[in-house]
Amino acid sequence: MHYHLRRFLDLWFPSLCLVCGRPLLLSEQHICMACCHQLPWLSLRSFRDNAASLRLAGRLPFGKAVAAFKYQKESSVQVLFEAFKYHGNSHLAFYLGAMAAHRLLPAGFFEDIDCLLPLPLHAAKFRKRGYNQAERIAAGMSSVTGIPVENKALVRQRANATQTKKNRWQRQVNVDEAFALRDAARIEGKRVLVVDDVLTTGATMAACGQSLLAASPASLHFFALGLA
Ligand SMILES: [Zn+2]
Repeated sequence: MHYHLRRFLDLWFPSLCLVCGRPLLLSEQHICMACCHQLPWLSLRSFRDNAASLRLAGRLPFGKAVAAFKYQKESSVQVLFEAFKYHGNSHLAFYLGAMAAHRLLPAGFFEDIDCLLPLPLHAAKFRKRGYNQAERIAAGMSSVTGIPVENKALVRQRANATQTKKNRWQRQVNVDEAFALRDAARIEGKRVLVVDDVLTTGATMAACGQSLLAASPASLHFFALGLA
């Protein structure tokens, strides 16, 4: 937003930090610097051997996997996730994607990535929310890295809203049917980074990756904002 317009609006509607509620500085968005520093950021020491990659190990062949920070219930991270998942704050998803990319870029994470593929959202959920939060995160990453977002190659076929009530095996079966290639040529031979908001058991990410493998990408990599 234009600086002067933002300053004018701030006089009447001061923006508050989503976590601590203090008024934000003009240089801050959504979350103040202090709260941002206190987020439970995960180490970027290894892209191939870390807590995120362990969730996917053995499920499918892939290169790198990282999560930006730990997702804990009753924490500042949960406040942020609820804001972009359930309260319509799509700008926050974009902002967090950009923030994560700023951390990963100097570590060389994006050097061998050709496209960012947000985990598709089921059409019914998309209509309800108005946007795909994974797509907004990927768009934020793209704004920092210049790497294009690929959101036409893969679609989600069925909703799996009841997933949390099922055990790991049932979840695997459920999500296996959930993705379908729509345009394989878009990712054939590409180095693809799958982007999602949260990595839990890894079943959904792995199912997404399995569907992508049928399109013969050069390599597959995974990123999640939060590691539950
Ligand atoms: Zn704050």
